[in-house]
Order: sequence, then C-alpha cells, then structure tokens
Amino acid sequence: MAQAGSAFRLDGRAALVTGAARGIGAEIARVLAGLGANVARADILPETEWESGAAGPRLSLDVTSTATCDAVVDRAAAALGGLDLLVNNAGINAYEAAEATDDAMWNKVIDVNLTGAFRISRAAYRHLSKRTPAAIVNVASTISFIAIKRNVPYGVSKAGLAHMTRILALEWADRNIRVNAVAPTIVPTDMTAGIRADPAYMKMRMAGIPMGRLPSTTDVANAVAFLASSAAGMITGQVLAIDGGVLVQ
Ligand code: NAD
Repeated sequence: MAQAGSAFRLDGRAALVTGAARGIGAEIARVLAGLGANVARADILPETEWESGAAGPRLSLDVTSTATCDAVVDRAAAALGGLDLLVNNAGINAYEAAEATDDAMWNKVIDVNLTGAFRISRAAYRHLSKRTPAAIVNVASTISFIAIKRNVPYGVSKAGLAHMTRILALEWADRNIRVNAVAPTIVPTDMTAGIRADPAYMKMRMAGIPMGRLPSTTDVANAVAFLASSAAGMITGQVLAIDGGVLVQ
C-alpha cells in the first residue's frame, strides 16, 4: 500500500519551470525540488540576477522566441532524461490606462504571457506525450476572471491563458497530459512592488480579499505542486484560485 501522502510527492519527476529566476517561479522550483522533482529552471534574466534556489540546470530562455523555446525544452529534457512536468510561470505586467496602451505594450504582454506559454507547451508536448502521466501548470491570475482597471493587455493575456488551459486539457487528455492553472491574487514579488507601494490602491484591493492577507509565493507554489502531482490525477482543465476568497464574492 502507498504511504499516506505519497501521491503528493514528485520523486524523480523531471520538471521545467519558466520565469524561475526569482519570485513565484523561484519558489515553485524550490517547492517542486523539495518534493523530490528534478527541476530545470529557465528565465530571460542574466545569471547574476537569479535568486539562489533549487539545484539543477539553469537555462537562458526568452519565451517570445519559438526557436529558443524549442531549444530550451530540448535542453531541459536532455539534462533531466525526459520531461514530466512543465510550469508556465514567465510573465510580465503593464499598468496603463486603456486609451494610453500602445500597440507595443499590448503586443509585448500578450507575446510573453499568452503566446509564450503556448510556444513552450507546444515544444514540451513532444516530450510530455512520451512520459505519461504528465502535467502542465500555467500561472494565470484572478484577473483571468475579474476586470481590474489600467491592466487591459495583462488581464486579456491571463484570461486567454485560463482558456488555453481548458483547450489544451481537452486536446491532450487522451495523451494523459493534464493541463491546469493557478490564479493568484496579488503576491508580494518584484512584479507587484509598484502597486504595493500605493496605499490607496492596496486599500481598495485588500477590501476585496475576504481572508485579509496576500498569498505568499509558497501558497502559490504549493498549489502548483498539488496540480502537478498524482494527487490531482483526475483534475484537468481547471483554474484554481489562490486568492483568499476574492472570486467567491
Ligand atoms: P516576477 O517579475 O518576479 O517574475 C517573473 C519572471 O518571469 C522573472 O524572473 C522574469 O525575468 C521572467 N520573464 C519575464 N519575461 C520573460 C521572457 N520573455 N522569457 C522568459 N522569462 C521571462 O513576477 P512574479 O510575481 O513572480 O510572477 C510570476 C508569474 O505569476 C507571472 O506569470 C505573473 O503574471 C503571475 N502572477 C503574479 C501575481 C503577483 O501578484 N505577483 C499574481 C498573479 C499572477
């Protein structure tokens, strides 16, 4: 009989985490490794700007380049002896009024957050489909579901990512590749330093979080680890809110 809780472990699973140099991605890599996974981390930042963290390959990745996505997925699979898990975490934000959002800002945010996750998922499919059961976890956002002012390309990219999660889940279900997402509210990372320094904005956002606190990077990473594990073996196409109750209101 399996040991209690063993379905939550990731022993020997080969994982690639994008945007893993810092913030939520670094914590996801640390938590997956702590549960026994062999983790390759990939990011656009130069090595000097990476947080220290989980051991394992560090790969240079720009998710806006198809060739680089293909190469990084192949390098991760070569280094780890295959690929079982993919976490699409790389992302950027942009705060601007809709009428002042130019094409460059729109295109960049969509390219990184939505098309980038698609490029990596498509590249990873070649490896994941050989190693079933396999799993993809996307890092979406509460803004996948609710409208927040001054955030139109980001919100649209994350809404698209939530729906891409459902479509890929459907398309790849018969290959035993589960595709899910997490949807955090504001997490204290470099990405949110600007908004967290704005007391009026934070007062408004905190009023919408019934549990009265922000999720930590570990809250998000634990949920990603669950969705990646065989404990979530019949869960696919779901977007799990990590939001202290924001979306139930
Ligand atoms: P962060 O800025 O600390 O980390 C994002 C990482 O993605 C960085 O290491 C960055 O270098 C990397 N990245 C950016 N562009 C890239 C590219 N083109 N190719 C490869 N890597 C790239 O922010 P974070 O808060 O840790 O965000 C991680 C993910 O969580 C993002 O997708 C973000 O949208 C999502 N998210 C964050 C919050 C939040 O409040 N912090 C809430 C919901 C969702």
